[in-house]
Amino acid sequence: MSPIVGIDLGTTNSLIGAMDAGFPILLADADGEQLTPSVVHFPQNGEPLAGRAAARMRALDPAATVYSVKRFIGRRVGEETDGVSYALAGERGAPVRVRVREREFSPEEISALVLKKLRADAERALGCEVTRAVITVPAYFNDAQRQATKAAGELAGFTVERIVNEPTAAALAYGLDKLGDRSKIAVFDLGGGTFDISILELNQGVFQVLATNGNTRLGGDDIDAAVISDFRLPHVAQASRFARLQISDLSLEADARLHEAVIVAKHRLSFEDEARIDLPFLAGAESFTHTLTRTELERLARPIVEKTRAHCLRALQDAKLTPADLDEVILVGGQTRMPLVREFVRAIFQREPNISQNPDEAVALGATIQAGILSGAVQNVLLLDVTPLSLGIETFGGLMNVIIPRNSTIPIKAGEMFTNAVAGQTAMKITVLQGERELAKDNWRLGEFELAFERAPKGHARVGVQFEIDANGILHVLARDTKTGAQKTVAMTSAVDVSDEAVEKMLEESLEHAFEDMSDRVFVEAKLKSDELLPAVRQALAQAGGELSDDERALIAQRVTEVETALATGAGQPLQRANTALDAATQRLATLLIERALRA
Ligand code: ADP
Ligand code: MG
Repeated sequence: MSPIVGIDLGTTNSLIGAMDAGFPILLADADGEQLTPSVVHFPQNGEPLAGRAAARMRALDPAATVYSVKRFIGRRVGEETDGVSYALAGERGAPVRVRVREREFSPEEISALVLKKLRADAERALGCEVTRAVITVPAYFNDAQRQATKAAGELAGFTVERIVNEPTAAALAYGLDKLGDRSKIAVFDLGGGTFDISILELNQGVFQVLATNGNTRLGGDDIDAAVISDFRLPHVAQASRFARLQISDLSLEADARLHEAVIVAKHRLSFEDEARIDLPFLAGAESFTHTLTRTELERLARPIVEKTRAHCLRALQDAKLTPADLDEVILVGGQTRMPLVREFVRAIFQREPNISQNPDEAVALGATIQAGILSGAVQNVLLLDVTPLSLGIETFGGLMNVIIPRNSTIPIKAGEMFTNAVAGQTAMKITVLQGERELAKDNWRLGEFELAFERAPKGHARVGVQFEIDANGILHVLARDTKTGAQKTVAMTSAVDVSDEAVEKMLEESLEHAFEDMSDRVFVEAKLKSDELLPAVRQALAQAGGELSDDERALIAQRVTEVETALATGAGQPLQRANTALDAATQRLATLLIERALRA
């Protein structure tokens, strides 16, 4: 079986990973690089380039080099669709298209080229065909953006097994699925061009997004641009050996070199106090030399990083939380390696951020862990998978008795004790059901088997029924006669995991029929009660009826008729009321019986 890979399809950079002997690892390309720039270049002649080779062309051939296309995926013309160096096409309101060298592409097609490169790298690294993937998207992506991302994966030859939220993947990589239920987490993600803040809550093993906020035009790129524009100012020109030429006059190639050098320096300044930028012959005979200090970089970056604060506060407000309510704050995105960013996070959330993972790898690692979970390669972790529909057994009267409710996290084990409904019964039929309807007949029947037990008076047998869904999603049903210890286990392989469509339909039907289902259940339960009540009343009348007055006997007879009528019409609530009335009418009869028994 082809392995499932995990992919972080980023605005700036993308990564791919796979499980290796139970551990998530990121895969490198032929040059040993794990980070693949999400850039595609279309040369004058020949095949498009994706990744690092394309990124190098960005400054040299801006009109034919497509970057940050994630901004446009699943979007329509007019929704924040501008500010890139390549051309966009499409009528206002129509899906955005990218125009390069007289040709038009959908953002999915561009993303697919990046994904294809990742796929080829993974196949080379793993030595086998790779056709299945988990791909991450920002938590705020709407359905169109998610569908388009899925389509990009399919164009690249993947079966997209799941689309996962980036903050969820990151939390998984940080191991936060091990936190207690109801834990709350902030995921602070500052990448190259986007800032996302997400507040998640762990709910029975599943991360729920309480709030998201952010800015699709805020990231490390802005810091790079701030440094470069500062170089244009006279004080830098004087300090550097680059006096005569204005930086704004640089050729495209020189500009690209400068840009690259600034980024390298910025990265170094996350770990060092100074970084020297040395660009010999940047413009003809002129060289550029400058020592950038961390203090200088921070001065330029501060107003940019400051912008994250308001988004964080708004997200907290939307989630109705204060920083003190959070259990963890994690860092995601390459730019959060910068000490200044960490300082801001500390101040905003009033706590130390968790820095146990590489921030630019966390999303891809989490996607890989999720892929491992789906392929069964990851065992001892809490599964993010949940039961799409309730599982239970049919009980007396044809009702659905839920044992594992829908949306339970698997693996899971749950059980319940049942008894015999009929005296002298010697076996119990266990019918395993899946679905949301109240009546057994409306749910799906997964299978059935019988458990024999010792003959017992009504209500005396004790049969425990236990459901267990293992990490592979297989349901094991165990039934045991607690008296004798006799038991039977049956594995139901077929159902549990049903298609999204079927689940959707079941949920729709259960909503649609909620009222009638409820009254069906009320009727069945009331009927069980009548079935007990009527023979008991008959018997009591035979024994002690003579001690009642004529009026009393007439009232009981009337109440009995009412119960019988309600039974015949099949209406739940009237039957419930008739039962209660019969119960009330026979109070004195019951007392007489007890007194008799005491006398005897
Ligand atoms: P995205 O999720 O948007 O694809 P990434 O998470 O890969 O982006 O982040 C890319 C950004 O992180 C770039 O602006 C890059 O310069 C910045 N970055 C990467 N490493 C460092 C570092 N060591 N110090 C500061 N910034 C860094
Ligand atoms: Mg990212």
